[in-house]
Amino acid sequence: MQNSFTEENYLKIIHALSGRDGLEVSTNALAESTSTRAASVTDMLRKLAEKGLIHYKKYQGVRLTESGEKVAINVIRKHRLWEVFLVEKLGFGWDEVHDIAEELEHIPSDHLVERLDSFLGHPRFDPHGDPIPDAKGNLTEPDYLILTDVEIGEKVRMMGVLDHAPSFLQHLDRAGITLGCILEIKEINEYDKSASVQIEDKQTLFISLEVSKNLLVQRR
Ligand SMILES: [Zn+2]
Repeated sequence: MQNSFTEENYLKIIHALSGRDGLEVSTNALAESTSTRAASVTDMLRKLAEKGLIHYKKYQGVRLTESGEKVAINVIRKHRLWEVFLVEKLGFGWDEVHDIAEELEHIPSDHLVERLDSFLGHPRFDPHGDPIPDAKGNLTEPDYLILTDVEIGEKVRMMGVLDHAPSFLQHLDRAGITLGCILEIKEINEYDKSASVQIEDKQTLFISLEVSKNLLVQRR
């Protein structure tokens, strides 16, 4: 059964909003994330429920069914594999690939995605550090910390970003903060929680709380 571009995007958004615990997602939250009127959201939800992809009752939240979850994970898998391809094979920057992958993720061919996966050597993470679900649909979210949880004097490895906006990624590029680099918190400003951070035992720079809140790291 083929699902439309929009249907797949809804499933992906419901998956993201319901989080690890598979919580119910409200129609309002969906309307907000899709920038759509609540009435159109309701229409789409009815359609997805008819296809057996979500559990939906009027005035209540929605949840993905097992098959809805499968579709969502598969779209995420394709998205992240295409991002790896674009960065590693076509030389795009990590700030340039998200929107292109938003289109490529809807190419239905399973054969294509399996070929792509083996061509890339079965990568486990995308260029933003997000885990890539395997062909069976297993998605393991690593337990990363957010940089704001790290104390002064601790050295951590940068593992991912919570914000995928090109402007944020370009900001990190300019600061020399890339996936895998080692960060050490030297000082935290009590007033605004900006931090002085040393990168790779070399330059030290100030990063704002907004930046810290969006960096995923791992203790070494
Ligand atoms: Zn992306």
